[in-house]
Amino acid sequence: MDSENFKGTIDSQIKKDIAVIPLIDVVVFPHVAITLIIKREKSLRALDYAMQHNRIIFCVSQKEDKKGEVSRDDLYQVGVLAKVRETAKQSDGSVKIVVEGIARAKIEQFLRDDPFLKVKIDLLAEPLLKKTEKLQAITYSLINQFKECIALGAIVPFDVLLVILNITDPWELADLMTINLDFSVLEKQAILEATNIEEKLQKLSEAISRQLNVLKMAHKIQNETGKELGKMEKEMFLREQLKTIEKELGVIGGMSEVEELRNKIEKAGMPEEVREKALKELGRLEKMPSFSPEISYIRTYLDCLISLPWEVKSQDKVDIKKAKNILDEDHYGLEKVKERVLEYLAVQKLVGKIKGPILCFAGPPGTGKTSIGKSIAKSLGRKFFRMSLGGIHDEAEIRGHRRTYVGAMPGRIIEGINSVKTKNPVFMLDEIDKIGADFRGDPSSALLEALDPEQNNAFSDHYLEVPFDLSDTMFITTANNLDTIPPALRDRMEVIEFSGYIEEEKFKIAKNFLVSKQLKEHGLDSKKLFIEESAIRKIIREYTREAGVRELERNIAAICRKVARKIAENNDKENYKINASDISKYLGPEKYHATIAEKKNEVGVVTGLAWTEVGGEILLIEATKMPGKGQLILTGHLGKVMQESAKAAYTYVRSRAKALGVSDKFYKDSDIHIHVPAGATPKDGPSAGVAITTAIASVLTDKPVKINIGMTGEITLRGRVLEIGGVKGKVLAAHRAGVKTIILPKDNKKDLEEIPKNIRKDLKFIFVEKMDEVLKEVLTK
Ligand code: ADP
Repeated sequence: MDSENFKGTIDSQIKKDIAVIPLIDVVVFPHVAITLIIKREKSLRALDYAMQHNRIIFCVSQKEDKKGEVSRDDLYQVGVLAKVRETAKQSDGSVKIVVEGIARAKIEQFLRDDPFLKVKIDLLAEPLLKKTEKLQAITYSLINQFKECIALGAIVPFDVLLVILNITDPWELADLMTINLDFSVLEKQAILEATNIEEKLQKLSEAISRQLNVLKMAHKIQNETGKELGKMEKEMFLREQLKTIEKELGVIGGMSEVEELRNKIEKAGMPEEVREKALKELGRLEKMPSFSPEISYIRTYLDCLISLPWEVKSQDKVDIKKAKNILDEDHYGLEKVKERVLEYLAVQKLVGKIKGPILCFAGPPGTGKTSIGKSIAKSLGRKFFRMSLGGIHDEAEIRGHRRTYVGAMPGRIIEGINSVKTKNPVFMLDEIDKIGADFRGDPSSALLEALDPEQNNAFSDHYLEVPFDLSDTMFITTANNLDTIPPALRDRMEVIEFSGYIEEEKFKIAKNFLVSKQLKEHGLDSKKLFIEESAIRKIIREYTREAGVRELERNIAAICRKVARKIAENNDKENYKINASDISKYLGPEKYHATIAEKKNEVGVVTGLAWTEVGGEILLIEATKMPGKGQLILTGHLGKVMQESAKAAYTYVRSRAKALGVSDKFYKDSDIHIHVPAGATPKDGPSAGVAITTAIASVLTDKPVKINIGMTGEITLRGRVLEIGGVKGKVLAAHRAGVKTIILPKDNKKDLEEIPKNIRKDLKFIFVEKMDEVLKEVLTK
């Protein structure tokens, strides 16, 4: 028992200096948990102090139930040292706590009264008991008296009753009975203070006799009023009899099952500490009567412990050459990613274990993050497990619920490990940027504990109650957006970026991987269905607009499905060949057509380049002017930073009104409305500053903006253009949309290297330092 262990180690410091919580109308006993409500100012302070130190308090009962401040004389001398297990603040300012009694102690000296009561104590030993016949006889008769109390209507929770009837230690038995019967504080205190077992049982017997008298009297009155013994109590007695009969007949709760569990525990390869815990629980299970509802909880718990892969590992073989082959076989392109992954594996190989930062694959959906993760597992010969963290708010999802919860289960990490049955899988945690924190606790701190190689060799799950070693697990996280990852987590991660594919790459991926994969999944082959290159290009251009290849794969799957159905319906021997002009028959009319090149220049409409969770995107930012009072109206689901950058843009234009040839009264008699379409996708970041400024300048000067120039950049109040991120994704998106010229901040010149040559050569880049240069370039005459 926890408290037993603890008792041995109560250090002298605690004994010398401990916070007191005076109790009204209750007595705390060792080995028993009890709920207390703490209301008084001093007691709250004492609790606070204990929580900050070792959670240990000294519970002493008051002689009278005086509510206000208590003095030293109001307290009994003997109390119980207790550990605070749980605390919960109540709405009225009081705190509900659960304490577990550890040991009896006597106040030796009062140390001080303010800000709360502190004392020096002396532990009272529990005397060693000799099991004499006399003692047995007294115990036996006490149990009978206790049963009689229940028969007469004393209310004792069912599970407590079971414990009491099974306990063998008379000292503990006395404590338990005392707590559960309706004794006065005086009686309880006397039983607590007893120095030897005879005295204790004597006091208990007196109290029970008094109690019995009261109950008998009540019963008599009840009988007279014609009421029956409660159904519950009757049932309890029948069950108790059943148990005795079962014992007599030797059919108790399937002994063989206990033996079977014991065998499994011994074979499960548990660490010693876990094995001990499992055997202890098994011991409890064995002692329980077969109808106890708790049996199924313990059994589920034991099954969970038994099934966990405590020492099962996949044969790990880091062969860098083989890993490279597998990564190449499964993926087109992604050279930089593959290189970083191989370097990472090489380090693991040299170090001999997982160490250092956790990999984080960051990028838009469908860019191959999961797929690379699977290939890593394959190349290492490890199992792969993927779990999404999106929308997890509750720490308990990661770390499980305590077993005291109804329907408690281990957390998702342990479940994941359990489902792959090895302790060294590649464990992918998807969408780490989408976990939240609220009143139910912060899941990211639990995650940190799981991920951190320094401390995850003893990961604690609330349900398991024993540590699990995660240090062989290779965690990989994925994210769409690095900005929303909790900083503490972000710090531990090595980010590998997946920036998205250009059309040519998508084409190669589809041709070499996606088509054959989908054909196979639909029971087809390239003879039955052949999708021509022209058709693939058409799907990419006119049916998808994405950084990754997910939609592309979905469209290919749709074609396969339709062909498969035709073949199945008509028992068709025909082979299908699909070219560009057939596509609309299968996928309907094209979804994206008008590229930027086909749009007209307009006043107040600017092609901005943005980076959102789904990759680079072009945003057509619109501004209009209307009569008003100088308000700036912003719509389109803009984040805080973007709103601020719009305000800065407005101020800048105002300060440059003269140079732009705008009436400097515009802010007195007109409102400006800025809208960023596609209102459903949240957008944020400062990089739309340049585009917003241009839109405002355009409406005020009434000059149309060249629509085929895409732009991105942050601006300052004085019109300097600052560096921004995500250049590659933005440029790819602009290229996809048919933009011809791109304006970038001068400091981003270095990023052009990342952009494939054939794309670069299609585009004209203009690098700027000041807003004026932008306006000169894009506003038409
Ligand atoms: P993510 O995890 O980034 O959202 P996935 O790994 O699920 O993306 O990729 C979506 C689909 O595209 C998968 O079928 C994957 O195999 C395929 N895919 C993505 N990138 C590549 C690539 N470079 N080569 C081959 N297939 C790819």
